[in-house]
Amino acid sequence: MSDPLPPAAALRRIAFLLERAREPTHRVAAFRTAAAVVDALGPDELDRRIRTRTLTDLRGIGPKTGAAIVQAHAGEVPEYLARLEEAHGELVPLADDVAEFRALLRGDLHVHSDWSDGGSPIREMAEAAIGLGHEYMALTDHSPRLTVANGLSPERLERQLDVVAALNEELAPFRILTGIECDINVDGSLDQTDELLGRLDVVVASVHSDLRADSAAMTERMLTAVADPHTDVLGHCTGRLLIPREQREGRRQRPRPESSFDAEAVFSACVEHGTAVEINSRPERLDPPLRLLNLAVDLGCEFAVDTDAHAPGQLDWQGNGCERAVECGVPAERVVNTRTVEDLLAWTAG
Ligand SMILES: [Zn+2]
Ligand SMILES: [Zn+2]
Repeated sequence: MSDPLPPAAALRRIAFLLERAREPTHRVAAFRTAAAVVDALGPDELDRRIRTRTLTDLRGIGPKTGAAIVQAHAGEVPEYLARLEEAHGELVPLADDVAEFRALLRGDLHVHSDWSDGGSPIREMAEAAIGLGHEYMALTDHSPRLTVANGLSPERLERQLDVVAALNEELAPFRILTGIECDINVDGSLDQTDELLGRLDVVVASVHSDLRADSAAMTERMLTAVADPHTDVLGHCTGRLLIPREQREGRRQRPRPESSFDAEAVFSACVEHGTAVEINSRPERLDPPLRLLNLAVDLGCEFAVDTDAHAPGQLDWQGNGCERAVECGVPAERVVNTRTVEDLLAWTAG
């Protein structure tokens, strides 16, 4: 990208590239906040602020963001952005077979917004997905029990469905699929009302609690969830974390091992009940581990290669999952998000 962008778009592009460069989230957030401030100002007030050099008097705009705004407003590529483009604008090229595999993906079935623990509004996530050439994105914010991640109560999920419907009118032909990343309760039931689960396009079911339960209990719990007629995708099945990660409010989560369960039984149940096994592309998850991914391939599972993105730049991460899929010989026709939106919805409804 070398064309100058309007100020707010330039700030968002900077945030996107900072994310890709794995810069700390507060730095990324500063640019997104500044973009929102510029959006709210309107063009005349922005002109006036720049003329009178009072941009940085505004809450949410500092010297760095202010300089980028002034340069973008003058029709230039901000220096800061130009440097980032040079270092991080091009993706590290994927191997040919991985790139080919990735090109077959039409969407992502596991994406969070700022309605739960994501960092960006639904629209920004959708626009980033459109930018990647995707045709659809399932919005899968967390369920009520996951209070640390601001999980959605039934009432909030109802409201989100209206917001998504309105956005879909605007963004067509792109489609935001309604969805949820639903906690699997300890007894294997799903953490949302039956009625709402029935109305959603895509249900990703994941274990987020009692990860150290004994194998028999965990297996029972997962078998129940996989057999639930609402479940479409089994999210990050082992729950492992390979590297520490930052959480909301500056908490750091330490690495943790896989939870133990009878993978052969769980994956066989996935085949039986038409539940796809997620290939989670987050660098700290990369779940399932390769040995389990190979097992799932052998048993005949279907898969969803998902990013579990909590910010727009993370929608890029699908390449990680594709690399692992190719390494384990996952046939593309068994990846549900290579399907058209019609075929995908026919599958989730079935
Ligand atoms: Zn999760
Ligand atoms: Zn998630």
